Amino acid sequence: MIHWEAHACLPLHPEADFAPIDRLHAAGVNYVSINIGMDMNPLSQVMSVIGGFRATIAAHADRYRLAASADDIELAAAEGVLAIGFDLEGAMPLLEQPSMVALYRDLGVRQMHFAYNRNNSVAGGCHDDECGLTPLGRRMVAAVNEAGVLMDCSHTGRRASLEIMDASAQPVIFSHSNPLALVEHGRNVTDEQIRASAATGGVICVSGVSGFLGTRTPDADDVARHAAYVAELVGVEHVGIGLDISFHQDGLDDTPPGDFDATYWWPKSAGYDRAVTRMTYTPIETWQALAPALQRTGMTGDEAALVMGGNMMRVARQVWRGKP
Ligand SMILES: [Zn+2]
Repeated sequence: MIHWEAHACLPLHPEADFAPIDRLHAAGVNYVSINIGMDMNPLSQVMSVIGGFRATIAAHADRYRLAASADDIELAAAEGVLAIGFDLEGAMPLLEQPSMVALYRDLGVRQMHFAYNRNNSVAGGCHDDECGLTPLGRRMVAAVNEAGVLMDCSHTGRRASLEIMDASAQPVIFSHSNPLALVEHGRNVTDEQIRASAATGGVICVSGVSGFLGTRTPDADDVARHAAYVAELVGVEHVGIGLDISFHQDGLDDTPPGDFDATYWWPKSAGYDRAVTRMTYTPIETWQALAPALQRTGMTGDEAALVMGGNMMRVARQVWRGKP
């Protein structure tokens, strides 16, 4: 069975060390979606990161492969190679141009959401005044559907996410979001959002981030508890895992250039302590403890396998198009 990690963050620097990605692989992950940029990162930084990450992947073909299809992931797993896709967090690097979606896809981006915490010209963010999907946003949803890229609604405002899920002709996922019913946090999602994602055929991937799980030192049982809540609400076929572990590396400064204000993107009023870097993450080895933890919530082994990757493989088979 394929183990699918729906979101991980290396330093947004072309020379980022892939050692943490190797550790995810060693912990049993077969596919990982690696972030290549957020709304606060200028296009120059996003392109530099994509160039650097693609070069690292190409230089280690015995270890990594960019995946464009579910079949690619299965083939890579059979060969002991880790399959990788990129994800974009926010529409600002699309430059208000729907045709950019297919370009990012051709560079390896397999999933994207439209607003990183704050509102932009495409959609509302989850830590801003409520604002829906704009007319440009509707064209962007169509472009994402057309390009065969996964539409994601993490970090997106409630109204915008509901409008995206209504507008999308394809399943819409939350790549790293937890249920608000368990922990009151602006990044967490309501039962209505969870139901709407499931209604598209989508998957809600729960994170391993302390503030969203409501525990200081999260472990596999915390992740499993949140997964079990979603399974109870909409069915186990709509649950996935996106631990959202952020790997910082000494000596690699990935602060966006210019007068970057972290408190704008991660507002104190939303419960962030200075910056999201103060959050703690469940350990990589959580992947090895997840199957028994999920089963302790009452899931069968087959159901745990769906949560750990089977469901996202189903969605990828339905949505993804394009070549690596
Ligand atoms: Zn994120």
